[in-house]
Formats: sequence, C-alpha cells, structure tokens
Amino acid sequence: KPPIIGRAAYVPPKQDFTDTVFNQFVKAQTLKGTLSAFFTLCEQIDVRQFENHHTFYQTLKDKVRSWKATALWSSLDQLVNREEYASGSICANKKVLIIGAGPCGLRTAIECALLGAKVVVIEKRENFTRNNVLHLWPFVIKDLRKLGAKVLYPKFCPGNIDHISIRRLQLILLKICLCLGIEVHCEVAFQDIVEPPEDQTEGLGWRAKFDPEDHPLSQIQFDVVIGADGRRNTLKGFERKKAGRALAIALTFNFKNYNSSAEARVQEIGGISYQFRQDFFKEMNQKLGITLENLVYYKDETHYFVVTAKKSSLMKKDVIIEDKPTIAELLAPSNVNYDKLKAYALEIATFSTELPNYDFEINHHNMPDVAMFDFTSIHLACHSAFVRNKHGHELLHCLVGDSLLQPFWPQGTGCGRGFLSSLDAAWMIREWSLGERDTLDILAERETLYILLPNTTPVTLSKDLDSYCLHPGTRYKLLKNETQVKTEEVKHLYNPEEHA
Ligand code: FAD
Repeated sequence: KPPIIGRAAYVPPKQDFTDTVFNQFVKAQTLKGTLSAFFTLCEQIDVRQFENHHTFYQTLKDKVRSWKATALWSSLDQLVNREEYASGSICANKKVLIIGAGPCGLRTAIECALLGAKVVVIEKRENFTRNNVLHLWPFVIKDLRKLGAKVLYPKFCPGNIDHISIRRLQLILLKICLCLGIEVHCEVAFQDIVEPPEDQTEGLGWRAKFDPEDHPLSQIQFDVVIGADGRRNTLKGFERKKAGRALAIALTFNFKNYNSSAEARVQEIGGISYQFRQDFFKEMNQKLGITLENLVYYKDETHYFVVTAKKSSLMKKDVIIEDKPTIAELLAPSNVNYDKLKAYALEIATFSTELPNYDFEINHHNMPDVAMFDFTSIHLACHSAFVRNKHGHELLHCLVGDSLLQPFWPQGTGCGRGFLSSLDAAWMIREWSLGERDTLDILAERETLYILLPNTTPVTLSKDLDSYCLHPGTRYKLLKNETQVKTEEVKHLYNPEEHA
C-alpha cells in the first residue's frame, strides 16, 4: 500500500469582496450609510481613507473592476482627462474647504478635485433628509449624466423627466465626490475662519474653527473657503441685500409614492400660474375657497407639490391663526395651525390630481411632510468672492448656490443657477491658482458673471450643452465687453477690511 501522505493544511484563497462592497456603496441610501460603505471599500482595497487625494481615484479604478464600476470610471475618465483640468496639476498645492454638502457644495467640490486640489467638505447634519424635488435645467441633467448619475441611480431623469429629490441628488454627488478622493465629514459644523498668527516662525496659514471644537480638521490650513451652506450663509464678510417682492408664501407637501400603475397614469403639472391658467385657479377658488398664484406637481420618489398661496386664503381656512404685522410673526409656528395646513394641502392635491392615495410622506421630524416658507424677500450676496491676505497668506473666499443667490422654489431656478455658480467659482479658483492673471482681474471677471446669474434661464444660456465646461464663455451667451466689471470696481474685494 502506498504510504498515507499527510495533506497540507488547506489555506483558502483570500476572498475578494471588493465588488460586493462597491455595490453596497452604490446602493447606500443615507449619508452615514454611504460613508460607512466607502470606508469598508477603502479597507477592502487597502487604501487609507482620505489619504492621498492625488492617486485615490486611480487606485480605486485599478482595484474595482465590476461592470458597474467600469461604467462609472468610463464617465469620470472623460472628465478627468479634459484639457482644462491639466491632469489635476493646476490646483495640486491648494486646499479647499467647502461648507455644506448640499447639491452646490458637492458639485463645487467635484470641480476643485478635478483641478487637483485637496478638498474637504463638511456637513453639519447627520443625514440627507429633504424629500422636496428640484427642477433640473437641461444643462444640469446633461452635466449629471456626464458625471455618471445614471450608473449610480439608474432611474435618473428618464425620457423627459426633469426633476429629482434633493436627498437623492445629494447622495449621487456625494458618491462621486468620494470616488474622486474628496474628504467628506458629517456632523461637523463650520464656526469661523482663524487668521494666520502674527508670529510666522511656523509659517501657519488660514485655518477654521468647527463644532466639535477639537476636530482634527481645525489643524488644516486652507487656501480657499467656499460658503455652500444654503441661505443662512455662515461665512463672514459677505454682506447681503434683499430683493423685495409682493408677499409670497410657499407651501411644499409630499405624499407617499407607492409606484402603482394608477399613480403612473397621473399627469405631472410642470408649473402653472394664475396669469396663464385662470380657469384652473378660479375653479379651485370657487370649489375650495383656496386662492393660489401658482402650482407645481412632480411625480418623483414622492408625490411633491409646491404652491404659492394668498395670505387671505390661508387666513380664511384658519391655517394662519391671526394676522400679524411682520411676515416672521405671521408664519411663526405658534401662529400656524398644523392640522389645518395639512387639510389645506390635501384639498389642493385632491383638486389638482387624481392619485389613488394621499398618505403624507414623513419628514425628518417624523411628521407629515408639509411646510410653509416665506419668499417675500429673497436674499442675495452683494458680491460673490473676495481675497484676504494676512501675514503673507492669501485666502480666497467664495459663495455658491443658495448662499449666493436664494432661489424662489416655485420657479425651479435653484439648482440651475446654483450649478452655474459652482462652475464659475471653480473657474475662478483655477485662474487664481494658475497665477498668470492679476487677482483683481479675476475678481472682476467673477463679479461680471455674478451680475448675469439672476437673469439666467435655459433660454438665455448657450444652447450647445455638449460644449459646457468650466470656461464661462461656453455657458453664458451674454458676455459682452460693455457689461464687464472693471478692476477699479473690485479693489475693495482684495483685503476688504482695508477699504471698510
Ligand atoms: P443647500 O441645499 O441648502 O445645502 C446647504 C447644506 O449646508 C445643508 O446640507 C446644510 O445642512 C449645510 N450647512 C448649513 N450650515 C452649515 C454649517 N455651519 N456647517 C456645515 N454645514 C452646514 N428648492 C426647490 O427648488 N424646491 C423645493 O421644494 C425646495 N425645498 C427646500 C426645502 C428646504 C428645507 C431647504 C433648506 C431648501 C429647499 N430648496 C428647494 C432649495 C434647494 O434645496 C437649493 O436651491 C438647492 O439644494 C441648492 O442649494 P445649496 O447646495 O446651495 O444649499
């Protein structure tokens, strides 16, 4: 008999879960869930999270090769390799802090990362919770498709659908940011900028204060800070003005979408106003005693409505309890009957659509998602950027999105103008980092574009959506010499305190 030879102990091959973990990352539905799946992915591919932003995307691409991943890389590669980013060399030595992980903060972060900067995004919330739906201009849809939105969310804008929930858009952009090596921290709130110390023996530059106070980010020095924290902008140095309008009270409400075939048959209402559909609004008034100025209904992950209501109608229906001298007092929670507000919303929804169910979606307070907002005055920043130079260190300050220009939701301009401001800010950072032009010239160009922004619509922008890129000339049709802001007019934007 042949001798029994002892078998070598069986060592199973190291299991490769990379594709599974990447799929979990793609499927994650929350901010924290996405970050946690991303950290697991980093462990799986042996890369320390947020370590080397210059090589991160390439490493990820080399190690994750599922078909989904490959589809995403093929979209991102087309961007990464564009000439204007010069292989990420232009901002290779710059560090950018972005305050707020709303759609515009995340979109700006992507551009800065493509330019090669080390980008840190901080978000004070622990989750993305907004069910409300954003109208997307054609260029925004195209832009998001180029970024690979369809791979990350296959239901992204099919056919002629031109909207997405805010929460979903944030998730898509967050995942792209992480793949590009952008550092994202949730539950970290921006507090203030910390100036470079007078004693420059250590050569310390600009830093920031955060909540929590002892966060490691407070040790990092930044070259650029971008206020993308929405309409209550916390970045100091940006005065704001009010664009007054007639009293405007907007209501948003969301109902659950069960995705039934009966719901699929209900037509969307892409935006109607009293001026053009008097018959509809007069009938609503006759039948319900409700007077609206406009109405939008989108069928998205929820059934979403945004309307502008007349104060008299809200008072007649006891939604607003008592008339008050100021709009803030008028809409204060103590002066609003929440049950009547729900009933008001329900009446509007049942009059304008024929949904089989009207079950309110739940908001992040675990309450039916019905809210009322004041749009009587819209805030806009007096200027879009400035530079401070202290003890030999420059810090470029910019605003983007709602922090720069607050949108009127029923018009659906927020994301369109917001994304334009993100691209404009990134173009400025590029030009400033290149160091070939005078800083005042760059600031003047930025202000020129900012003046155009409130008047932009899909009609006033260039029609050649394929050519849109960082260069403003590819997007704005209206760039004429006579409308250019002059460098003398922006002198106060370099070290503003010296001109105060
Ligand atoms: P936002 O989307 O507001 O994002 C700002 C982010 O900054 C937020 O995530 C916020 O948590 C974070 N942040 C704030 N302060 C700090 C801080 N100190 N530190 C760190 N992070 C901070 N638009 C519509 O067209 N239709 C709607 O129905 C609609 N509903 C909305 C409902 C709400 C409650 C809000 C706040 C906005 C809504 N908008 C709506 C506006 C729309 O969301 C924005 O136009 C769009 O998302 C682009 O905004 P943004 O990225 O500039 O800012």
